[in-house]
Amino acid sequence: MPERLYYAEPFRTSFEAHVSDIRQVSHSRGQMVWQVALDRTAFYPTGGGQPHDTGTLTAQAPSGVTLQAPIVDVVEDEAGEIWHTTAKPLLAGTAVRGEIDLARRHDHMQQHSGQHLLSAVFLREIGAATVSFHLGEAASTIDLAVGSISAGEMEQVEEAVNSILAEDRPISMRTVDRTEAEALLAAGALRKLPPREGTIRLIEIAGVDLNACGGTHLRATGQIGGLLLRGTERVKQGLRVEFVCGLRAVRTARTDRMLLTRAAALLSVGRDQAPDAIDRLLAESKAGNKEKQRLQEALAASEAGRLLLETAIENGRRLVSRSLSDGDAGYLKLLASRLAMAPQTCALLTLQAEDPAPLVLSANGDLALDCGALLRDALGHFGARGGGSAGMAQGRIPRADLDALFSLLEPALRGS
Ligand SMILES: [Zn+2]
Repeated sequence: MPERLYYAEPFRTSFEAHVSDIRQVSHSRGQMVWQVALDRTAFYPTGGGQPHDTGTLTAQAPSGVTLQAPIVDVVEDEAGEIWHTTAKPLLAGTAVRGEIDLARRHDHMQQHSGQHLLSAVFLREIGAATVSFHLGEAASTIDLAVGSISAGEMEQVEEAVNSILAEDRPISMRTVDRTEAEALLAAGALRKLPPREGTIRLIEIAGVDLNACGGTHLRATGQIGGLLLRGTERVKQGLRVEFVCGLRAVRTARTDRMLLTRAAALLSVGRDQAPDAIDRLLAESKAGNKEKQRLQEALAASEAGRLLLETAIENGRRLVSRSLSDGDAGYLKLLASRLAMAPQTCALLTLQAEDPAPLVLSANGDLALDCGALLRDALGHFGARGGGSAGMAQGRIPRADLDALFSLLEPALRGS
């Protein structure tokens, strides 16, 4: 098994090693993908909730040519071997120099150390135990075994965590055997113990937390930089809390500020006045919609009156059949229902501008027509769909079939 340099030296970015094994994984877009095993490595493999490192392996060919193999993924197999994924094959026995991307590792250590602290503080402050956690590419989350957390409690936890960051408490690591770890757990000194045999790695944040973990951590809480809680979401096992640490917290806050600035500029107010401005805008919009509804009803009543005067009753029926140049589907329905209030009257309406054309069929109850069945059957002839109740039905049909549909329906509606 390889020597894991990241356990003892989480800040180490370069190391010398020898290739111990190589295997071909797959072809990816015409390119071979290989996995290389080393006798020692500083590359952290994905595991324990922490994402893998990236970086480079550099080898010197006998010809003197330098070969650089970018490492894009690092995984640990069940046997404990660590495989470094690369597009360049490096033969067993090759001496290599490894360089890991410190910015990426440092970011992971900030999120991961921050997670330990956050879990401990959630437990201490409001009795919420962490069930699981995830360190993501953009945001990290912990799942808590609670139903809800108030905004006040979120603030309380966020401030408590950031106070501990300012205290710059040491973060240390030690290994103990299983028996000792179980005794610590039983005594309530250890927050969590994974079900694994052998020695247990304990990470301690002085005076705050003791937890078993195989990840990489910072030397002191001050290095976490800052922690920002971003929100909560209900999940099956409780409540998911999103958080960001360090430079990510700064970037996230910056993005939030830019979004809020943009929203405030659109509203022509200061950032702190944006919520009130949106409130006002929504109230105005609601009032506007109400007024629009009132005007449409008045317009429909007036237009219905005019159409009823224009259309004569024949064979005891009056059919108002029109293609309107103005309005929308809502207005069409309003007008149809208004027309059907008149005795002996039915209406077949569409809009000129739309394709497929919306259709509304309505009839006064005294005509004993079934608008739903009539429209559904007629549209069925053209492979179109629609339906509704006896008094009112709706559907849509391609414009090209509209005239044929009117010719089909009008005789039935006139009763001729
Ligand atoms: Zn950890």
